[in-house]
Amino acid sequence: MYVRIFSPIGTTSSFWRSLHHDSCSFIRRSMASHSPDTTRFDFLVVGGGSGGLAGARRAAELGANAAVIESHKLGGTCNVICMCFQVMWNAAVHAEYMHDHSDYGFSVENFKFNWETLKAKRDAYVSRLNQIYRNNLDRAKVQFIQGYARFTDDPQPTVEVNGKRYTAPHILIATGGQPSVLSEDEVPGANLGITSDGFFQLKTLPKRTVIVGAGYIAVEMAGILSTLGSKTSLIIRQTGVLRNFDAFISANCTKELQNNGIDLWKNSQVKRVSKTDRGLEVTIVSKDPEKKIDEEKISTIEEVDCLLWAIGRIPNTSGMNISNVGVDIDERGHITVDEFQNTSRPGVYAVGDVCGKALLTPVAIAAGRKLAHRLFEDKKDSKLDYSSIPTVVFSHPPIGTVGLTEEEALKINGKENVKVYKTSFTPMYHAITSRKSPCIMKLVCVGKEEKVVGLHMQGIGCDEMLQGFAVAIKMGATKADFDNTVAIHPTSSEEFVTMR
Ligand SMILES: Cc1cc2nc3c(=O)[nH]c(=O)nc-3n(C[C@H](O)[C@H](O)[C@H](O)COP(=O)(O)OP(=O)(O)OC[C@H]3O[C@@H](n4cnc5c(N)ncnc54)[C@H](O)[C@@H]3O)c2cc1C
Repeated sequence: MYVRIFSPIGTTSSFWRSLHHDSCSFIRRSMASHSPDTTRFDFLVVGGGSGGLAGARRAAELGANAAVIESHKLGGTCNVICMCFQVMWNAAVHAEYMHDHSDYGFSVENFKFNWETLKAKRDAYVSRLNQIYRNNLDRAKVQFIQGYARFTDDPQPTVEVNGKRYTAPHILIATGGQPSVLSEDEVPGANLGITSDGFFQLKTLPKRTVIVGAGYIAVEMAGILSTLGSKTSLIIRQTGVLRNFDAFISANCTKELQNNGIDLWKNSQVKRVSKTDRGLEVTIVSKDPEKKIDEEKISTIEEVDCLLWAIGRIPNTSGMNISNVGVDIDERGHITVDEFQNTSRPGVYAVGDVCGKALLTPVAIAAGRKLAHRLFEDKKDSKLDYSSIPTVVFSHPPIGTVGLTEEEALKINGKENVKVYKTSFTPMYHAITSRKSPCIMKLVCVGKEEKVVGLHMQGIGCDEMLQGFAVAIKMGATKADFDNTVAIHPTSSEEFVTMR
């Protein structure tokens, strides 16, 4: 790597950095002209989302001549979707707390919610973020290429963007994913619905919403829309939401959705959607699993002004001519990588949602950065440890979860080696409110030393509570370590260090 001579490892003074950048830009120009029709970089990143940007910026910090290709907006799904979701969830939490104002002695009369105001502020915030991402790339001296990248059939992996060709000895695919949609053959009228992408284009709060799906995106959208005042139905194929979470959380979240006024259709699927002059008509087929005879019940929800599909996500791999470079994908289109993010083609790597594992922003960012350290700092063992990744679901109330579910711990360790501690209580906040929302907590411990391998909770504040516990679990904390920690009183989190 030619840039190494200007990059004394471990030296971070601004002098060396500026010398390094000046020298590099000279060499970059000369390298770029190396071949008349293909521009060369050290590190070429396809996809300017969480993983791609993090990897490219870290590589540039380490002295690589890096470029990012992005077909839409810099920042990717997280910038547009997660940030919007967070703003919407915060708005919904405001609406929730409004119900408790009188119990706390406030009289708030005639308060009104204005979707347009919220949307305008939210969209302005997201636009500012886009600009910040661009500035950060410029500051890091990462070249930005706007356009859609497709692999060519050159012997060395090369991509083409708007008729120009780019290559590098190290190419990172970080193209993320997009919402799954059903075809008209599967559900006639399916295209009358929108996905989480369309949710953020809604100009007004829908009066009547139908959401299809049982994953965290469906749960979060249902909570937001219902709390802000849309009459919301949630259609799920089985009896509970969040089925890959601990059963304790799945059951509680399903109950809380109903407690919050969401009309839950269990064991149901959408059969047909049609448009009438009063909105959409959603026809649903439901089966009662308790009944021996396999009889179906057909029902219709009328006057629906927003149908939202939240039925999963697919990786952005089709259309990129990935087969031209011999990168293996699985049956769902995810890029197959090893623990170091190597694909089956040497010199081509993948991180983030496109790999289909732990679809979360910080996972994509961490994997991108670890890869950059491996490639450009010679840290041969630099890789992301995918175990015990904490996750929050912004439901009402929020869910926090890290590590193994009880079911997973039992399967791995056997019944005799697993001990579970559980509690359920009314948080202090609700002591004087007529609206009540319980908090539930569970610790999953294994072995004689009772190592904590899983922590699951749902209740007010669980979103902010999780990160610290995740550190303890990552460090290998045992139940005794939890017990030896003095409680903070009166909080919900103290329950984790006082469980018996
Ligand atoms: C509704 C929703 C809510 C979410 N909430 C959270 C949350 O609260 N917390 C959390 O941690 N995660 C959340 N996520 C997940 C998070 O957004 C993703 O895990 C994260 O964005 C993945 O980053 P990535 O870099 O892999 O892909 P992305 O961020 O999706 O970036 C991929 C980029 O590649 C671009 N691209 C694709 N193909 C090409 C091509 N051929 N050429 C050029 N550019 C291309 C795309 O335009 C996109 O900008 C949420 C996701 C959704 C959908």
